[in-house]
Amino acid sequence: MLRHFSQSLRFQFLVALSGVLLLALCSLVVMSQWFIFPALHEEERGIISQELKRVERGLVLAQQDLLAQARDWANWDDTYLFVQGNQPRYAEVNFSPEMMEEMRYQLIAFFDVNGEIYYLSGLAPDTHHFATCSRVVDDCTWMAPFIDSIRQSIENTPDQQYFLFPGISSPAMVAITPILRTDGSGPSTGWLAKVRLIDKKWVVQMENVTGLPITIEQQPTSDAIPLTNIEGETIYAQHLLPTNVPAISILVGTQLNRTHYLASLSTIRYVLIWTACLMLFVIGFVLWLMERMILKPLKALAVFAKQTSSEDSSLDSALLCRRNDEIGMLARSFEQQLSRQSELNAELLKLSTHDSLTGLPNRRLFDQRLHASIHEMEASSQPLAVMMLDIDHFKLFNDHYGHQRGDQCLQQVAQALQKVATTHDFLIARTGGEEFSALLPNTSAQQAKHIGQLLHNTIDALALPHLASPVAPYVTISVGIGSLDEGTDISPNVLMSTADQALYSAKAAGRHQVKIFTPPNADFSAYRYDTSL
Ligand code: GH3
Ligand code: MG
Ligand code: MG
Repeated sequence: MLRHFSQSLRFQFLVALSGVLLLALCSLVVMSQWFIFPALHEEERGIISQELKRVERGLVLAQQDLLAQARDWANWDDTYLFVQGNQPRYAEVNFSPEMMEEMRYQLIAFFDVNGEIYYLSGLAPDTHHFATCSRVVDDCTWMAPFIDSIRQSIENTPDQQYFLFPGISSPAMVAITPILRTDGSGPSTGWLAKVRLIDKKWVVQMENVTGLPITIEQQPTSDAIPLTNIEGETIYAQHLLPTNVPAISILVGTQLNRTHYLASLSTIRYVLIWTACLMLFVIGFVLWLMERMILKPLKALAVFAKQTSSEDSSLDSALLCRRNDEIGMLARSFEQQLSRQSELNAELLKLSTHDSLTGLPNRRLFDQRLHASIHEMEASSQPLAVMMLDIDHFKLFNDHYGHQRGDQCLQQVAQALQKVATTHDFLIARTGGEEFSALLPNTSAQQAKHIGQLLHNTIDALALPHLASPVAPYVTISVGIGSLDEGTDISPNVLMSTADQALYSAKAAGRHQVKIFTPPNADFSAYRYDTSL
């Protein structure tokens, strides 16, 4: 049963389609793993690095803004005169803790033409204590790292510049510019430096501007920092920015919710699952179609073949033959083949039961009918008669007219006998060379004698010339009749023997006559019908 199923078309289709499904699913998974997911990752990293660049650009802009503010002060005649010692009220008028707080300046430093400190004003980062001085002492001691760094930078680059400074509590941005007159003319009379802390307040301000969460902290330059880092549903991006202290950098970082990536991921998973379901459905549908369009008609064709061979056709088979597809063609050619075969069978049956020369039933058929008629007679208590008819001196006919004319004579005699048999509804067969036998059910001896005489006269009426016959100048027959009355128990052989005896006596009495055999007593066993004829 299992072996049968494994060889069936349904199973083979199922295996083939499942293979296709598996292959398609594998390629989908491979495609998503190797192409789609990496592309999504790449896109995600691209987005975060762009956002990080926005933050960095914001930082650069803030530094440029600080430089512009420094230049605004440095290119001013009052500042020019102040650094030369000619503007005594300059400091008093321009510096106050409120201004420093308002402008978010940590430190403003003036240097003379030799790079020496001229004037310092600042808010202490921890205490926010406002102090002004002309040297880094007392309340201005906290300024020392800034001042050292600024003087170093002026020494290296006397032009305007800005840079990041690691700072004390938090990183800071520094802008330095030479002090010129208001019209921008020189020579420079010193330098002005402004320092602004990149503290929590500044970061919050930047976060508001960029709309991104920002982290800024100091980091040893030697530390290897990964550019991006993914933790759960958040992706972090960070970048080290150099300060004017080579060993220390500033780590700028931002983070992004992975909503876009996760949404794409779930969309792809959704698509994958749906594709798999769709493919399963397609396979089911294709199998159903095959069942309906191929397997079911094929089964019907097999049933049709069985029915046609048993000569029993049904509505299904008619429907099959009316189909316009290949199965219909197959059914039609199959039907043609079968009808041709049944024709051949009928022909074969006719050949086996009929004589080829005269077309009359042959001895085989006669014997079959004789047996059947005897059984029927026994059952129905009807009389039965048999007859043997033999052409007189047929050998002489052949000798005189030739074998071919003899055949023609046989055909004409057979035709004439058949006509009478058809009219009177009895069987006539060619049971020997020039010998015929008749089977007459429901026929009494008297009726049989009448029909025997009729056959005899019919041949006479044909008047086929037979000049070699000593009996008459035309073809004649002798007829012997054997009959059974109803209720007689007798075998076919014995019955035919009686007819044979009657024929014998007709021949012996001079031929060209009809004789009926009536046994002297009921004992038929002495008579034998020679079946070898
Ligand atoms: P009788 O009157 O005693 O019957 O004499 P007969 O010559 O008819 O009988 P016999 O048995 O001596 O000869 C029968 C002949 O019938 C012999 C044979 O050549 C001929 N015959 C038998 N079958 C055929 C046939 O199919 N065609 C032809 N042309 N002749 C046949
Ligand atoms: Mg004979
Ligand atoms: Mg004969």
